[in-house]
Amino acid sequence: MILPIVAYGDPVLKKKSTDITKEYPNLDMLLENMFETMYNAFGVGLAAPQIGLPIRLFLVDTTPFSEDEELSEDEQNALKDFKRVFINAKIIKEEGDEWAFNEGCLSIPDVREDVFRKPKITVEYVDEHFKKHTEVFEGLIARVIQHEYDHIEGILFTDKLSSLKKRLIKGKLNNISKGKINVDYRMRFPDQKKKR
Ligand SMILES: [Zn+2]
Repeated sequence: MILPIVAYGDPVLKKKSTDITKEYPNLDMLLENMFETMYNAFGVGLAAPQIGLPIRLFLVDTTPFSEDEELSEDEQNALKDFKRVFINAKIIKEEGDEWAFNEGCLSIPDVREDVFRKPKITVEYVDEHFKKHTEVFEGLIARVIQHEYDHIEGILFTDKLSSLKKRLIKGKLNNISKGKINVDYRMRFPDQKKKR
C-alpha cells in the first residue's frame, strides 16, 4: 500500500525518533509499504517520520544512482542493488573532508540544494531481522544514509543551509506546507485547508 508522505512543516519531521523492538506491531507490512511508497515516488531513501511515525527506522535503495554515467564502474556497481533496512541506527563516526552534493527530499518536493557532509561514516544498526551490524559506508551510499539518519534525529537538509539560502527558499517551503505544490505522489500537508 502506498502511504502518504508527510510534507515539510509537519511537527513529526522535527521530532527525535525512538528505538523500536522486535515486537513492533506489523513490522513486515510496514517495511513492505514503505518500500512501495519510496519506489512509487522514485526516492532512494525513506525514513519512518516521513510517513508519520517517529521511530528509528529508514530504508535505502541507491540503485537509481548506479545509472549515473559520470561514476566509475566500481562506484556504479556499489550503488546497484544496495538495498537496506536500518533500524535503531546510530552513526558512531564521520570522517574525511566535507563535500557538497545536491540533495532533495520526498517531504520537500522541488527543492534541491547543495549540502556539505563528510564522505565516510561508521553505522551501528539492526536489520529487519534484528541482526546487529557495524558497517563503514562511503560516497553516495553514506550520503543517503546521512540524509535519512538526519530524519530520525528530527533534522531536514534545509536545516543545514546557510541563513541566506534559508531565506531564499522560505516562500517555497511555506507553499509546500500548505499543499500549494504539484507533486505526482501521495502527500499529506500539515497546513492544507480541509477539503469540503
Ligand atoms: Zn528526506
